[in-house]
Amino acid sequence: MKKLVVKTENCIGCGACVGIDSEHFTFNDEGFSIPVSNENLDSDKLQTAIDSCPVGIISVLKDDCNCEENCECKENCEKNA
Ligand code: SF4
Repeated sequence: MKKLVVKTENCIGCGACVGIDSEHFTFNDEGFSIPVSNENLDSDKLQTAIDSCPVGIISVLKDDCNCEENCECKENCEKNA
C-alpha cells in the first residue's frame, strides 16, 4: 500500500496543504502539518498540495518502498522526486 508522508519537523506551518486537501492533511497541536489518510493517494487535490508545499516535504512512498516515515530518500518517492 502506498503511504503519504510529511517531514513534519521541517514544516513551516504555511497551511497550503491543509487548505488545499483536508482529506489528507491536518495540523498537529504545534500548528504543523501531519498526514491523516493513505486513501485516494492519486487524487488531483493531493498532487496540487504536494506541488504547493514551499519546502517540498510531502511525499507518497511507492508500494515497494521499505522506508520508514520521514525518510530522506526522495528519489524513491513517486510524487516528490
Ligand atoms: S504546505 Fe508544506 S510547509 Fe505548508 S503546512 Fe503543508 S507541509 Fe507544512
